[in-house]
Amino acid sequence: MSEELSCSFCGRAKPQTDLLIAGLDAHICDRCIEQAHGIVSEEGTEDDQLSTSFELKPPKEIKSFLDQFVIGQTEAKKVLSVAVYNHYKRILNPKVEEEIEIQKSNLLLVGQTGTGKTLLAQTIAKMLQLPLAIVDATILTEAGYVGEDVESILTRLLQAADYDVENAQKGIVFIDEIDKIARKGDNPSITRDVSGEGVQQALLKLLEGTVVNVPPKGGRKHPDQKFIEVDTSNILFIAGGAFDGIEREINKRLNLQAIGYKTASSTEEIDKENLLQYINPKDVKSFGLIPEIIGRLPVLTFMHPLDGKTLRSILTEPKNALTKQYEKLFELDGIKLEFTSGALDYIVEKALEYNLGARGLRSLCEAILNQAMFEMPGGDKTTLKVTKVYAEQQLKKANPSKLKAVS
Ligand code: ADP
Repeated sequence: MSEELSCSFCGRAKPQTDLLIAGLDAHICDRCIEQAHGIVSEEGTEDDQLSTSFELKPPKEIKSFLDQFVIGQTEAKKVLSVAVYNHYKRILNPKVEEEIEIQKSNLLLVGQTGTGKTLLAQTIAKMLQLPLAIVDATILTEAGYVGEDVESILTRLLQAADYDVENAQKGIVFIDEIDKIARKGDNPSITRDVSGEGVQQALLKLLEGTVVNVPPKGGRKHPDQKFIEVDTSNILFIAGGAFDGIEREINKRLNLQAIGYKTASSTEEIDKENLLQYINPKDVKSFGLIPEIIGRLPVLTFMHPLDGKTLRSILTEPKNALTKQYEKLFELDGIKLEFTSGALDYIVEKALEYNLGARGLRSLCEAILNQAMFEMPGGDKTTLKVTKVYAEQQLKKANPSKLKAVS
């Protein structure tokens, strides 16, 4: 007589089960299937929750995360951490939203190019594991003009989210060079305003929260193209710009204030070297952003210009600092790369001299290490010590105009 069949999981004999399914060399009963199914679907919902929600950390923890990648910029990091926290708290608590409508916390970051505005947006997206689209406001035009419609921003976000609309609707959009679409009304030499106020108007709806028909592959809207509906209400918009010359507006306002009232604050010492820290929405308006746009970017903060000390830290400290990246690259070829302190100071000095900011650090490192990266792999040498003299020699060989172009 053949051995009695039983469930390989719970051991129940065949007569005790309603159903026993045979595998290659095992069996499973109906009850175990049900139990297993329960476990699988529970796991599934956990995963789903991860993709549709995420663990929201308090602002202090958000800032600590930013600290790992972004040097300095304490004020901007604090403001951003709070804005991000509030924004996603609002999304995660839709019930509260029904009682009191909490406004979006879209941000405006003002600061010179290369000070870390994009990096902040990238780091936040990385932390929250949300899709991020980075767009340049200068390519946007009013519908009907040559250039991209504002909807193209959402096409990029959809692409970043692998066309997962749910996820895209909670994503982050970084609009760079928002200052370049400022109204140029005060400047008589500029006669057309193709990419100015019209684009600001078109952006308004997006920033505010609306349902937009997005062409999935980008490009112009085409009558035959199928659209994807994207609701922008929960998308976090971060706009950034250098706002060259806005210090004049800030200065003007501060001087007027000082004349107008003799308040405690007006007698406070004004740090003329860094006027950006006093920026307020009025200055942005005087610069040429329309009040409606400013209203929809309610959180305003600034970035410090990068001094030598900060550049030095940027080279070595962040989790993915440039020197660490190059050390890793060489290590993969079995080569130990080392920068002397003198070499690092020299790189910073050159970045300041060429006025290249943090972006220049990379092109400088690339120029200094290019020859070694070409010659050393496959060779016998297993160490490379980059001294100031070595860096100087290599940089002399490189074409300085090329350095500027790379940045
Ligand atoms: P922005 O958007 O302000 O023009 P980015 O964020 O694109 O500047 O910065 C350019 C590069 O410079 C970044 O990729 C980063 O490597 C470096 N960088 C700039 N500012 C910082 C900073 N505060 N901390 C660390 N790296 C920085």
